[in-house]
Amino acid sequence: MTSAFANIAFTANVKAVQTHMGSRETYCRHEQEPAQEPVLGPHEIAFIEARDSFYLGTVSEAGWPYVQHRGGPSGFLKVLDARMIGYADFSGNRQYISTGNLAGDDRVSLFLMDYPHQARLKIFGRARVIYEDDDSELLARLDNPHYRARVERGIVIRIEGFDWNCPKYITPRYTEDEVAQRIREATPALTAQASQRNARPEEPIGNGELVLAITGIRQLTPHIRAYELRTEDWGELPLAEAGAHLDVPVRLADRSVVTRQYSLVTEPGHHDMYEIAVLRESDGRGGSQAIHETWQIGTRLRVAPPGNHFPLHADSRPAVLIAGGIGIAPIKAMAQALRRRDIPLELHYTGRSPVDMAYRDQLAAEFTNGYFTYLSRVPGHQRLDVAEVLHRAAGDAVFYVCGPIALINAVRTATNRLGIAPERVQHESFC
Ligand SMILES: Cc1cc2nc3c(=O)[nH]c(=O)nc-3n(C[C@H](O)[C@H](O)[C@H](O)COP(=O)(O)OP(=O)(O)OC[C@H]3O[C@@H](n4cnc5c(N)ncnc54)[C@H](O)[C@@H]3O)c2cc1C
Repeated sequence: MTSAFANIAFTANVKAVQTHMGSRETYCRHEQEPAQEPVLGPHEIAFIEARDSFYLGTVSEAGWPYVQHRGGPSGFLKVLDARMIGYADFSGNRQYISTGNLAGDDRVSLFLMDYPHQARLKIFGRARVIYEDDDSELLARLDNPHYRARVERGIVIRIEGFDWNCPKYITPRYTEDEVAQRIREATPALTAQASQRNARPEEPIGNGELVLAITGIRQLTPHIRAYELRTEDWGELPLAEAGAHLDVPVRLADRSVVTRQYSLVTEPGHHDMYEIAVLRESDGRGGSQAIHETWQIGTRLRVAPPGNHFPLHADSRPAVLIAGGIGIAPIKAMAQALRRRDIPLELHYTGRSPVDMAYRDQLAAEFTNGYFTYLSRVPGHQRLDVAEVLHRAAGDAVFYVCGPIALINAVRTATNRLGIAPERVQHESFC
């Protein structure tokens, strides 16, 4: 802020309010700065010459302020020298409020806005109205050769102070020309993107006999995404029993292709879709990260039919299912398959916190009985007591556990201790 601006704007009343509100000390400094001529620099000149409108405040002889909006082609407000600006005044609605006000009081206040760049220049000045007879040469300098209307008069303003304003509350707005310009600038990149999208899809990676495409993606938790895979014609898929997994080819950032396994989460009964749930492992070798970053709707893979190292028992013995974290993936499908067969079951699901537990609420809605959840990282919340779960289970129950290696080891230790036959305890480790 120039001291010239502060000296005009900060009247005794304004200073009193600043004192009352505690900002006086800050603004006082501006007034104490060595007096500077309010001379426009290159930045102000370029800004003024780029404007296609501004607001002009005048004061009537009755003391009322009046604000007029002035518009014209860019640059219609001309910089005549470092302290003088002016514009040509054309025939308008013939009210002459601003011009009339200037006859009684030559003081004006201008607001110049640059909405796209959120900038505002405020100017105090003294205005003079000039007519053809007064100074035809000066009037000619204010005229705009591209504007055909007749110049009635010119307004020349001697600058008494100016100040730039904080951009915080200026909403960016764009004129039609500015929007058109931005579209022109963005068009090559948008066209390139569109032609990439329309280009032949990349060859599917992998070398399995089944070509599957990603047809759905859902964010289940902050770190787990579900992917739906189907044949390209949404045809029937090879049957997969609960507990099965797919070997999935993944292209890493270095373009090499690796294989990762993902359990099928698909609810039994779906014959045209495999669903997998992938936890993004931030400290792994990059397989799950690459899936999260590169798999999109339409991504195609060549996979072998699902394999199954974690099948359910075929008889009618009850089951106790224990899942930790992403281990819920096969366990969910297994619980749903057992329920379809009317096999009595308990489902114990532990996670760090509720938001980390994929399918938690869906399972609560589906399994109103025998579904127990535990939180390992939330103080005061019930933690899974593996020994207790095994101890309370039916004497002929079959146990299935999938989750972190520590959980699998805890189940093994407890089953040994309780003398449960090893063939009644099945586990799948993701490591
Ligand atoms: C049968 C089966 C089913 C699976 N099902 C699922 C599933 O449904 N959902 C799912 O998200 N995952 C599943 N997985 C795991 C999955 O296959 C991947 O291993 C997982 O996505 C991580 O791959 P990655 O390349 O990101 O990380 P990886 O490099 O495989 O790392 C995985 C973990 O191992 C650790 N690790 C990696 N390298 C080393 C090392 N050299 N030394 C010590 N620790 C290391 C990392 O800290 C990380 O936590 C399954 C695995 C198997 C075998």
